[in-house]
Amino acid sequence: MARLRLATVWLGGCSGCHMSFLDMDEYLLELAEIVDVVFSPLVDSKTYPEGVDVVLVEGAICNVEHMEMIHRVRSNSRVLISFGDCAVTGNVSAIRNVLGGALPVLKCSYEERSDPAGMIPSPNDIVPQLLDRVVPVHAVVKVDLFLPGCPPSGPMIRTALEKVLAGETIDLMEHHLSFGGYGRPRNSEGSSTASSSSTAPS
Ligand code: SF4
Repeated sequence: MARLRLATVWLGGCSGCHMSFLDMDEYLLELAEIVDVVFSPLVDSKTYPEGVDVVLVEGAICNVEHMEMIHRVRSNSRVLISFGDCAVTGNVSAIRNVLGGALPVLKCSYEERSDPAGMIPSPNDIVPQLLDRVVPVHAVVKVDLFLPGCPPSGPMIRTALEKVLAGETIDLMEHHLSFGGYGRPRNSEGSSTASSSSTAPS
């Protein structure tokens, strides 16, 4: 059987979901028998490649780099998993939305709460330009599977990956389908979903 091409992507999140990925412990060795990790902050890869079978996307879409990246990820991946609450709902990353836009956030962070020499960084420098609103992944591209949790537990990630890599449907428990009572996430077609019916990546 051909080895599957697995990727993980770190957008607007704290990396806690990736730490939870590592919590799969010995399953990582089993995983290494059947997948090649072709892109991830856990490996030394710089460009998101074509022909990815399954990708876990951590974090919300917060800046222009995230926006460019998620479109590339979507076009180059068969099964895209929204990985953790920041990707699924915005979660912690979206708290800044209450401030009403990128400029108030920058002023607050770099001027009002900085020392007297505080200065807003130029978007032309190394800091990517913030979007006015932080949005979850499915607000921008089609998502195939939502994997909620802050972070999702190692066993939950393992269960999801085992099923997806085998091309099986995932049935999550009800407490995984609502987020603080705010209802199920919606895919890009507007239907409620928290399961995957993706076929086996070949
Ligand atoms: S869902 Fe939680 S653990 Fe994952 S990136 Fe967001 S804040 Fe961090």
